Amino acid sequence: MRNMYDAIVLGLGGMGSATVYQLARRGQRVLGIERFTPGNDRGSSHGQSRIIRKSYFEDPAYVPLLLRAYELWHQLERESGQQLLRPTGGLMIGSPTSQLLQGSMRSAREHNLPHEILDASEIQRRYPVLTPAPHEIALYETDAGVLQPEACIHAHLTQAAAHGAELHYEEPVLQWEANGEGMLVTTASGSYHAARLVITAGSWLPELMAGLGLPLHVERRVMYWFTPQGGAAPFNPSHFPIYIWEVDDGHTFYGFPDMGGLPAGVKVALHSIPDDICTPETLDRSMRPAEIARMRTYLTGRIPALSQGAFVAGLACMYTLTPDGHFIISAHPQHPAAILSATCSGHGFKFASVIGEILADLALNGATPHPIGLFAPTRFTTGR
Ligand SMILES: Cc1cc2nc3c(=O)[nH]c(=O)nc-3n(C[C@H](O)[C@H](O)[C@H](O)COP(=O)(O)OP(=O)(O)OC[C@H]3O[C@@H](n4cnc5c(N)ncnc54)[C@H](O)[C@@H]3O)c2cc1C
Repeated sequence: MRNMYDAIVLGLGGMGSATVYQLARRGQRVLGIERFTPGNDRGSSHGQSRIIRKSYFEDPAYVPLLLRAYELWHQLERESGQQLLRPTGGLMIGSPTSQLLQGSMRSAREHNLPHEILDASEIQRRYPVLTPAPHEIALYETDAGVLQPEACIHAHLTQAAAHGAELHYEEPVLQWEANGEGMLVTTASGSYHAARLVITAGSWLPELMAGLGLPLHVERRVMYWFTPQGGAAPFNPSHFPIYIWEVDDGHTFYGFPDMGGLPAGVKVALHSIPDDICTPETLDRSMRPAEIARMRTYLTGRIPALSQGAFVAGLACMYTLTPDGHFIISAHPQHPAAILSATCSGHGFKFASVIGEILADLALNGATPHPIGLFAPTRFTTGR
């Protein structure tokens, strides 16, 4: 049959690029289809930097996946001959009873991860630009660092192509359907048949899967870049770590060292404060003075060099959220030859390398040795 593939991957962002790489590496005849350009800024995987860390406050069940994700990022670095993961160390800052500290300490202890607990004066002694409140502490983790998302996507795609993957860009998928034993995918410029389909469409997934009633919604989130007052030297990644900070109102913000590149400046963002519910079509990409002011409020008294710094730029991005913040990875309930992945909820990028491995396992074998029980969509219907 014309255009018969072993697998089609729909959407080549963070997760899809890793999946085509994994499938092509296993000798599969794979087609990847992306509606925009490689490493585009239309979805959830743009903006220069993503945190990677191991002492996972969200749930210790993620730690084995993280250990494998690190291995696979390093494998991709070796194959592509470029650094993608910059180790910087990481601070989880908050009161000792905060969810962030409690959860991070639990993961670190259960999985024997190297870490240190620092009190407020030790945090400030090591990182003078941070001024925590006297009751706040930090879990410091050596292995945390920064992934460059656009470079990771390019590296996965380049290696996938080197292993024989066919990659189509600027070709939106219009529909897909089960067809005989496999799946038929129709795009703006053709139709393709494959034994398996992996849907890694990020924030477009809720629309593509509207009939399934998955409890997913998409929210806008903004990344902000500020020029530090007093200069960027204290934020140099050779001695300044990534950090996540849970403040006493229960919300978290996070930030990075000065990574160079564009936008220039030091990046910070609010993680937990709800923003507009949107779709990829209705996402407001404008920067609103009131929310820049709100970002400064969270920095005030905590990182004065940034709260008093000049605002340089902001970029809007999308979180695709589940009610409990954990991912959804599953075969389609009616069409087991289609595998879906909703692996955002604002913390998915670091896992992209291992999600690619998991999705390739599921597409080829119907099962994976990785522990993914936490991500079954049945948890929303049967209760967990
Ligand atoms: C502001 C922000 C900060 C974040 N910070 C972190 C962090 O520090 N650490 C971390 O681990 N994670 C973080 N995340 C989450 C992480 O970035 C996401 O989990 C990850 O990028 C999701 O990747 P994806 O492949 O699911 O989506 P995307 O990368 O958006 O890819 C989906 C792709 O599918 C394509 N597509 C959709 N529909 C079609 C169609 N019909 N036809 C063809 N192509 C289609 C889209 O064009 C897009 O390229 C953050 C997210 C945001 C928004």
